[in-house]
This record gives sequence, C-alpha cells and structure tokens, in this order.
Amino acid sequence: MRRPVVLLAFVFIALLGALAAKGLLIQPPPIRAQNAPGEFDAKRAKERLAYILGNQRPHPSDTPESDLVRARLVGQLQQLGLSPIVRDQFACNELYKQRGVSCARVRNVIAILGPAAGKALLINAHYDSTPVGPGAADDGIGVATLLEVAANLKGKSLERPVILLFNEGEELGLIGARAFLADPLSRKVDALINMEARGVRGPVNMFETSHPNAAPIALFAAAVKNPVADSLGTDVYRLLPNYTDVNSFSERGWLTLNLAPIGNETRYHSAGDNVATLDPATLQHMGDQTQSLALALANGTPASANGDRIFMDVAGRTLISLPLVVGVGLLIGLMIGFLAVSVRRGGLLRAAVATIAAAISATLLSWLILAIIGAVRHGMFWRAHPIWTHLAVYAATIFATAVFLTLVGGRLDRTKLRPGFWFVFLVVGGSIGLVAPGGIIFFIFPPLIALLGIIVSRSWKLAELVGSLAAILFLYLTWGAMLGLLEELLNGGPMWIFATLGSLLIIPALIEARPLLASAGLRACSLVSGAAALAFCAASAAAPAYSADREQRFVIQHVADQTKGKSWWSILNDGAPIPVAYGHEWKRGELPFSDRPRWISDAPADPELHAPDVQPVSKVQSGDERTLTLRLVANGMEHVDLIAPPDARIRAAGVEGFVRPIDQDGGGKFSVSCFGRSCDGAILQVRTGRLNPVDFIVLGGIAGLPPTAMPFLTKRPNFARPQYNRDESIAFRTRRL
Ligand SMILES: [Zn+2]
Repeated sequence: MRRPVVLLAFVFIALLGALAAKGLLIQPPPIRAQNAPGEFDAKRAKERLAYILGNQRPHPSDTPESDLVRARLVGQLQQLGLSPIVRDQFACNELYKQRGVSCARVRNVIAILGPAAGKALLINAHYDSTPVGPGAADDGIGVATLLEVAANLKGKSLERPVILLFNEGEELGLIGARAFLADPLSRKVDALINMEARGVRGPVNMFETSHPNAAPIALFAAAVKNPVADSLGTDVYRLLPNYTDVNSFSERGWLTLNLAPIGNETRYHSAGDNVATLDPATLQHMGDQTQSLALALANGTPASANGDRIFMDVAGRTLISLPLVVGVGLLIGLMIGFLAVSVRRGGLLRAAVATIAAAISATLLSWLILAIIGAVRHGMFWRAHPIWTHLAVYAATIFATAVFLTLVGGRLDRTKLRPGFWFVFLVVGGSIGLVAPGGIIFFIFPPLIALLGIIVSRSWKLAELVGSLAAILFLYLTWGAMLGLLEELLNGGPMWIFATLGSLLIIPALIEARPLLASAGLRACSLVSGAAALAFCAASAAAPAYSADREQRFVIQHVADQTKGKSWWSILNDGAPIPVAYGHEWKRGELPFSDRPRWISDAPADPELHAPDVQPVSKVQSGDERTLTLRLVANGMEHVDLIAPPDARIRAAGVEGFVRPIDQDGGGKFSVSCFGRSCDGAILQVRTGRLNPVDFIVLGGIAGLPPTAMPFLTKRPNFARPQYNRDESIAFRTRRL
C-alpha cells in the first residue's frame, strides 16, 4: 500500500478510537480507599442502603413492602440520633404534560438538622420504588446519600435548618412532593437539592436548576469539585417528557439543583436496579456533590445573583460559565470574524457547502444503514453492545466527510476550509441557541481558540495550525464528552442523530488531515473509510442484542374486559417479534385502555380476577361543570384507574384536600389513578366539563399472572425481563357516569 493510504488508515482509526473513548472522559472520581473524618463514605452509605432495602422487593407506596422499608429507614435515622417524623397523607398530584391525576396514601419521612428557626434548605429523595424493581439507584442513591450526609452534618454547627425529606409516591406521580407542599414545614424552605436516578452508574449530572440560573450556577461552581453539567443539557431536559419531584416543587420558586446519574438505563425501573449493580463511585459522586452543596446552603443564604448564565464542564474537571448575553455577543462577534477571514481568503461558499453536505449525507447514510440493519434484526438490536452501532454511524460520517471534502472542497486548502467550517459551526450554534439558548456555550470556545491562532499567525506562522488543533482538542473535551453522555441518554435511539452531532467533531479533524486526503486520493479515502463503516455495520448487525447486564424489555400481562367477557395476553417489549416458542397468533395492536402499541393474542378468562368498581356517592351539576363523587371498590386489586375518552373534558380530580387540576393540552385519554391498599373505599372527586354521561373504564391490576401463563413465563427468552411495567393481571369494566 502507498504510504499516504497507510497514514490515512491510521488517522481514521485514531479518530474512531477517540470517538469510542470519549465516554471515558467523564467518569465519577474513583472510590476513595480512605475517607477523612466527615467526608462522604460511599461504602458505609451503600451498606445502609442494602440494610434498608432488605430482600430487595419492589416497594411502591402503601404496600406491605413499603412499610418494612420505611420502618428500617426510620430506625436508621433514629440510630443517627435524629428524631424522624412520619407524615401520613392521602394525597393526589397532577401528571405533567399528561391528562391525569394520581393518588395514593403516602408517608413522608422527615428529619431536621440545625437550628429550629429561619429559612431552610430542603434535601429531597424518594424512598418508594416502582412496582417493577427494588430501586437501589432510583432512588436508593438519594436515600443512601441523605443518610450519610445527615451523619456527617449532624455534629456540625449549622446556621440554617436543613430538612431531610424521604418522600413516598414519587414513582406514582410525584405524590409525596405534593403532600409535602401541603405541610407547613414547606413554608420555611428557600433552597432545594433534589436527588434522582435514571441509571445505575456513571457520573452524576446536575441537569436542572431554578431560573434564572445565575445563583444556583454560582453556588454549584463554587461548591462542587467534579462538576458534570451543561446548559444545553438543562435546556434539553426541559423539552423532554421526564419528571422529578422538582416539577411539583418548582411552583415555590426555591433555588434548586437537581442531580442524577444516567448510566445504563436498561436496568432502570426493572429488577436490574439492585444494590449489587449500583456503582459505589456513582454514589460517592452524588454524595460529595450533595454534601458540599448542603454545607454551602446550610451555612449561608443562597446568593441572590441575577440573570441567566450558560455553562459547561470541561471533561468533568471544571465548570466554565458566562452570562447568556455575553455568550450571544461572543457568538455573533466570532461569526463576523470568521466571515471576514473567509471573504478575504475566498472559498467560503465551497467550504460551507462541503461542510453542510458532509453532515447531511452522513446523517442520511446513517439513517439508511440503521434502517437496513433494523429490517433484518428488529427491536433494539444495539441494546447490549451499542458501541458497534455508534462506531458504524461515526465511520459512515468519516466516509461522507472524506468524500465531500474531496469532491466539493475541490482544490481548497486548509486555510480556506477552516474559516468556512467555523463559520458554519457558529451558524449551527446560533440555530441551536434559538431553541435551547444554553447550547451556545459549546459553540464559543473552539472557534475563539481557532481565531486567536489565525490572528497570532501573522507573527508566528505555525500558530494557525496549533490553534486549529487546540480548538479540536477543546471541542473533543467538551462536545465529545457531552456526546458520550448523550449516547447513554438516547440509548433508545434515534442513533442517526449521532452522525449529525458527531460531524461537528469529525469535519474539523478531517480538515486538518486534508493534505493527506488529497495525496491519498478520493478512491483510497472512500475505500478505507467505507471499509471501516462496513466492518462496524457488520459488527452492529452480528452483535447479540441483549446480555445479562443489558436485558430486553419484556412485560407479560393478562388483560380481561369483564364487561364484554373478553381476555387477552399482552406483551410490551421493544418491538422485536414474539419468540417462536410462544406459538400463539400474536398481533401488533392496542387495548381499549391504552394507546400504547403492544403484542396481543387471545387468552382464556381468569376466574379469580374481579375488575374494580366505583359507587356513585353524588353527582352535582353547577354551571357548565359536573362534580362526580365516587367511592372506589378495589375488589382485591392493588390499584384502581378510571380512564375516560379524550372528549371527557375532565378538569380536576382527587381526594379531599388534593383535588388537582388536569392540563387539557396534549390530547389523549384522561386518567385518575389510585395505588395501594387505601384505595379500597376511598372517596374520589372528579370534575368534568361534560354535562352528559361519560363512559369510564374502571381498571385494576395485581402483580403476577394466572396459572395459564406458566408456559410464557418458563419460555421467556434469556436476557429479557419486565421494565417500566410489571408482569400483571389486569381487569376492567365500563361504567357510565
Ligand atoms: Zn426516581
């Protein structure tokens, strides 16, 4: 092989290696072997958590399992010399961006440190789990952290009260947080640290603040040693349908910081979220941050800095932040700067077209590759080994970039391609800024470094090259590291998005390799990068889809419509075909109570099961509104849900003291749910804007399946388990109210 081709192959491999390794840039600091007195001890925190979770059964609100967990939690607090209070409330909360209200009897556990008087810091975690798994990370990481921080803060003299809230009912719809807001104690609060989890390992991200964010960011930057946070993330989080207790607390306007790990979502809300899997380094990262923030907030009132800032960490080592206006000014200034350089040097249009064509064609090519592999493999074929699919996408991006830099870039050399690329980069940054202003932070420093290099190159010729390489390195440490976290966050896809986002890193790197690309020639460039892309496509197509660590989502349910006398088996999975061993006629479809597509087949009736019911207590009409008061009859079910059609116009629902408004936007069915032992006999109020009767589905469920499900349970594929929903027997009836 010719020497340039060998060098080129080396450059491509190095680039792919860097892209594969970028996830390692941000890791929680290694676990400390020895802790100084008062330092957060992750080992001790995890031992306490293991004790509290006991036999690690799911412990959703108002169940016998949650009673056991709470008793052990209260015991641990008493052992620390604290006097925990248990608040027992039957409460409801509205679901956010969904038309629903959720109710449960919740017992919040509260302990207070420091002086009795004055404004307080609230540190919040939830001790309930989903009905699917033990919740060792979600939110055991928060519970363990709260206890260890309590142990370390207890001996210290604090200037302000610190309220430790172990709330219950978060998983059902942030019910414990709503219940706490009805507690007079909540009136003392002016600052909040919230702890959550959407994974079991990796760094702990600070992904949400109160707004304006200048004060929480100043505090975070000063207090936290290993910050993982960026304002693109906080802006994008606000656009996503994810909720934590902060959604309920935010109406009070407290200074707020929200922390969570996101590593390995495949275990989240499943039996896989267990104590053994929770990475102690992740727990230590959560603990160190929370303890430093708590000490800062317990020994001084929150700073009253104003305005919005944009910020990002540099490879989890330090936090850079700027006022948003300064960021916007810099972005515009840099845009003008690179436009001027490009116009003087010429070739702006060609360089811009090459950049844009590379990014777009990389995205289209990746979409096509994924569609082809997906047509053969079905479901989340990348779930166990996402690295191969990511590398296939990045290799396809290298291929598209190498081709378009040569084809469209024509005879442009690096001095013309560089300013053209950075100009497009800044335009992309500005466009992202229109949707998520915090995203601008990623688009300022690399072009700034590159421009400084160009300016200095008037007196030192090599400065432009040095500046360009430094800009790419900085881009790798920030944008690259962020992409690594995004790969964790978007593990459910779409994967092609990494071609678009990765091209911002790959294009400037290949521009620097331009002389090599030119001497190797178009054919060699496309052959070498195309071969790499094909190799990773083959790896992506051949790698096992699921593993013991990263199992397939696979939920089996028996569903009975007891009004019509019809029963189904229902399987919720990632869309992959049903195993052949299941033998039945399985069809993709929906069931009357949910719009979610699932696998369905006919099932024998389950004579043991009785759908819950409602008894009307009163119906009162006033003006354009009807208020239905209903008594729930659980008939042995663990939860009762009233589901109404999209035109039911339900405006509010709940129990006395917690009748909560329902958002009418967004469309879809309405739901009013109650979970736990106390639902049987509970009196529920439902206010509807429809004066004629509404047909409600009254649905209930109980863990486990009828004996006829045995063949499905024994033949459930290896590496498949319930996630997000449990194996459950569901029965419903229709009631006109
Ligand atoms: Zn949670």
